[in-house]
Amino acid sequence: MPEARPPAGHLLELRRVSKRYGTAAAEVHALREVDLSLEAGTLVAVMGPSGSGKSTLLTIAGSLEAPSGGEVLVEGRALSSMSRNAKAALRRRTIGFVFQDYNLLPGLSAAENVSLPLELDGVPARRARAVGMESLERLGLAARAAHFPDELSGGERQRVAIARAVVGERRLLLADEPSGALDSENGQAVMRLLLDACARGVGALVVTHDEHLASFAHRVVRLKDGRVESESVLSHAKDAS
Ligand code: ADP
Repeated sequence: MPEARPPAGHLLELRRVSKRYGTAAAEVHALREVDLSLEAGTLVAVMGPSGSGKSTLLTIAGSLEAPSGGEVLVEGRALSSMSRNAKAALRRRTIGFVFQDYNLLPGLSAAENVSLPLELDGVPARRARAVGMESLERLGLAARAAHFPDELSGGERQRVAIARAVVGERRLLLADEPSGALDSENGQAVMRLLLDACARGVGALVVTHDEHLASFAHRVVRLKDGRVESESVLSHAKDAS
């Protein structure tokens, strides 16, 4: 039986998370005792200069690397208590990643790219295709379903990447500069799509360098030298319409 859904407010929690790279002689503290929480329905922008730990934060939140200290909880479950298989299942079913360079597979159509995570998780192909189409439709891409990535614009590719990241029941969206390669209009469109996903119950952690795009978020967390320098709650996120 699936576990009951945990209460809102515990989609992602980082508790005093630290990450050190290198040897004792040449150690880099990429993160220093970072506390951060992400509730369902919330978009949090992560900002900070290059080298401040933003990518490390996403990597650790996504269970792709273990912290050197502290604890990460996803939906209330401590990653440190989970087996490798359980973490892999979490990445397949709960977490969606969006990368700056999209990472779409060039030999697959938009629809095939979006349904691939479900197929890899053992969902029968027909069902995976239907759920993938729903995700494409939500992002206004139904008419592009049969197109290959090189037949799509940059903005459309990024929308396909977001459709893939939120396909099925994925609730935690981790995006590393999802608008980095886009012009400002498409960048704003990406933020609106992420807000739409949050309105449907997803929680999103989004790295951006752009203050204006960060202003779309519900909260902005600023990192400096691996620490949370400040965290601000924006009185209201920009209208998603
Ligand atoms: P940002 O995303 O804000 O640019 P990163 O998280 O990539 O920052 O990096 C934070 C710090 O950790 C930097 O000093 C970087 O050089 C270091 N770092 C990141 N990943 C590694 C790694 N795999 N090995 C060694 N050092 C790393």
